[in-house]
Amino acid sequence: MSVTVSAPSSALLGVYKPAAPVFVAGEGSRLIDEDGRSYIDFVAGIAVNALGYADAGVTATLVSALESGVIHTSNLFRTRPAEDLAAELVSLSFADRIFFCNSGGEANEAAIKFARRRARAEGGEGKHEVVAFRGSFHGRLMGSLALTDRSSYQTPFTPLMPGAHIVDMNDDAAIRAIVSRDRTAALFVEPVQGEGGVNVVPTETLRRLREIADEADALLVFDEVQCGLGRTGHLFAHEASGVVPDLLTLAKPLAGGLPMGAVLLTEAVASTLKPGDHATTFGGGPVVASVALEVLRRIAEPELLEHVTAMGTRLESTVRGWTDVAGITDVRGRGLMWGIELDRPAGPVVSTALEQGLLLVTAGERVLRIVPPLVITEAELDAGLAILKRCLA
Ligand SMILES: *Cc1c(COP(=O)(O)O)cnc(C)c1O
Repeated sequence: MSVTVSAPSSALLGVYKPAAPVFVAGEGSRLIDEDGRSYIDFVAGIAVNALGYADAGVTATLVSALESGVIHTSNLFRTRPAEDLAAELVSLSFADRIFFCNSGGEANEAAIKFARRRARAEGGEGKHEVVAFRGSFHGRLMGSLALTDRSSYQTPFTPLMPGAHIVDMNDDAAIRAIVSRDRTAALFVEPVQGEGGVNVVPTETLRRLREIADEADALLVFDEVQCGLGRTGHLFAHEASGVVPDLLTLAKPLAGGLPMGAVLLTEAVASTLKPGDHATTFGGGPVVASVALEVLRRIAEPELLEHVTAMGTRLESTVRGWTDVAGITDVRGRGLMWGIELDRPAGPVVSTALEQGLLLVTAGERVLRIVPPLVITEAELDAGLAILKRCLA
C-alpha cells in the first residue's frame, strides 16, 4: 500500500492536515477507504467510537429516533430522550443534575461558568479564578483554551480568559501559592490526561487535589471528556481512585460519534443555577440523546468494562514484551487508553503505520496514543499490534 499524509486541495479551512485516505465504510474496529483498503483503527475518531463502526444497536436507535420526525425542538420544550439520558447518568454516577451541550470544549466552558456562578454565590466577585495543571487539555474555546497547557494553541490567540492558572500538580507549594479561599472557584483535572501524553494521575494526587479544593472552598472538576465512559475499564475514570468531584465533563464517546457533551453536577452546585444562567440551542436534542442512552447502557454493562480491562492487559503485556524493539522509553495507560513514549518524534511512525493499514494518533511530540473502539476483538488488537511492532522495528 502506498498512502501519504498530505493536505488535500479542497474548500475546507486549512486548520487540519488530514491523512490521504478517504473513508467510506466501517465495521467493528476497521475502516475501509474509497479504494477498498481496510485499516485497523487504534484511533476510534479520537476516543469517540467506543462501540466501533456499524454497531447494530446504535444504527437501530438512530434510525428509530429519526423516524419520529423530531430532530430538534430546542430547550424551550421537553423531550423524553434528554430526560431519560439525564436520569440514567444520575443513576450511574455521583451527580444529581445533568446539563447537555455539543462538545467537550463546550462542556468545559459550561463547567467554568457553573463554577464561577457557584463561587460568586458563596464568596463574592473576587472568587472567580480557575486552576488547571501541566499537561492539561481542556479544549480550544476561549475559556477552555486558558486551561490548556500548550503554548502553540494559546499564543496566537491572546489575551486569554483572565484568572486562569496552570501549575504543576506535583508541586504542592506552587498549588498552595495559587489556590486561595478568596479567589479560587475551581480546579480542573483530567484523571488520565489524554492530549498531554496519556498520563495517569495517581490516586494520591487526586486525593490531595480534593483536599486542596475543599480547604479553599473551590470545586473539583474532573474532565473525563476523553478518559470517561468506559475508556479506562471503569464507567468513570475517577472511580478507580475513590475521589469524587463536584462537576464532571463528558463528551467524546457519549453519543456514538454524534456531537454531544455533558456536565454532571452535584445538587450543591446545581442549586446555585437558575433559568437563564446558561443555555444552548442544540444541547440534548432528541436524536443525539437517544443514541447516547443506547451507548451509555451498553458501556455500563459489566461485560463490556471487563472486556476493556482484559484487552488493556493484553495490550500492555504485548507491548512490554517487545524487548527486541529499540526506542520505547515508556508504556503507560489504563484500560484501552495507552501511550507509548518513544525516544524520537512519534509522527513518522503514525505515517508508516497508515501505509501498513493501521490508524494511530500521537499525544504530544513523542507519544503514540492507542485508543481503539472499546469493543475491539482480540484478533483485531493482535493484528494492529503486530503492524505497530513492525513499524517500530
Ligand atoms: C477532546 C477533549 C476536549 C475538547 O473536546 P472537543 O469536543 O474537541 O471540544 C476537552 N477535554 C479533553 C480531556 C479532551 O480530550
